Amino acid sequence: MASKVTVKAPSSTANLGPGFDVFGLAVDAFFDEVTLTKKKEKGITIISADNIPTNPEQNTAGLVVKNMIKKFKTKDGIEIKIKKGVPAGFGMGSSAASAAAAAVAFNKLYNLKLDDNSLVEFAGSGEKASAGSVHYDNVAAAVLGGFVIVRTNPLSVIKIEPPTNLRMCIAVPKLQVPKKKTKVSRGVIPKKVKLTDSVLNLSNAACIVTGFIKKDPGLIGSSIKDVIVEPARKHMIPGFSRVKENALKAGAEGVTISGAGPSVIAFSKSSADLKKISGAMSRGFSSAKTKCQTIICKPSKGAISKIK
Ligand code: ADP
Repeated sequence: MASKVTVKAPSSTANLGPGFDVFGLAVDAFFDEVTLTKKKEKGITIISADNIPTNPEQNTAGLVVKNMIKKFKTKDGIEIKIKKGVPAGFGMGSSAASAAAAAVAFNKLYNLKLDDNSLVEFAGSGEKASAGSVHYDNVAAAVLGGFVIVRTNPLSVIKIEPPTNLRMCIAVPKLQVPKKKTKVSRGVIPKKVKLTDSVLNLSNAACIVTGFIKKDPGLIGSSIKDVIVEPARKHMIPGFSRVKENALKAGAEGVTISGAGPSVIAFSKSSADLKKISGAMSRGFSSAKTKCQTIICKPSKGAISKIK
């Protein structure tokens, strides 16, 4: 059995508009790399040069490893080395990438042969360290890759291979994100929704799934429409309306907030002028005196491991 495993896991975008807490998509914009090494000394040590908690209880990878050690009654100590590529707190599934990489690495390290649902369940358990509650949309995408639909109670994850010509442009604004951003952005969502709004969102969500099944980026993009969560959250992102309007004018099929924000994601076909779309998004943020980084990207295949 290996004594050291390294896994690379991608960033992800959750919700895709109407699929709040249900849809996730792995994107090859950024990657985290997590190395687990067996140690004689008991306990979990986290090593990272990045600005993330190193207490295992407060780090998503640390919590995953802690839960897996407990479940599988393994005896070794574990050293967790985390190289962050996914910026934390920007709606790109940063904590999820570490959690996903940790779960996949632990599975390999002890040759556990866990199925997809179990891997996602362990990875999701780590999210408690960042969001305060367990949720699976980002981790499911980061573990499995592609487009995922998460059904809870009991947990089951459906993965659909995205069309090869689906492209995204992500704008990550250079903002100071609040410490409890996910909690704050969940707090602004209405507790009750109008039936007509829920019908609209449901119809668009159904079309997004159909778009992935039919491999139709046009149908996916034009169905990225959310009349419930986006209107409640958009005021938290300076210049959001302009960023969206600009991207649509430049040829994007659909635009929405990535996860809990503040990143904004535009969906397109590979034939679209993606440079024009990213320029248009940057100008949207500039109009609100905010700088941003734009990344043109495509769906990712998910976490991959290499035994060292
Ligand atoms: P987002 O999905 O918007 O990137 P996250 O859910 O990743 O936001 O939450 C980021 C928060 O999670 C940060 O405050 C960070 O301190 C905490 N966190 C805990 N463990 C990690 C980790 N391994 N990587 C990144 N962030 C982590």
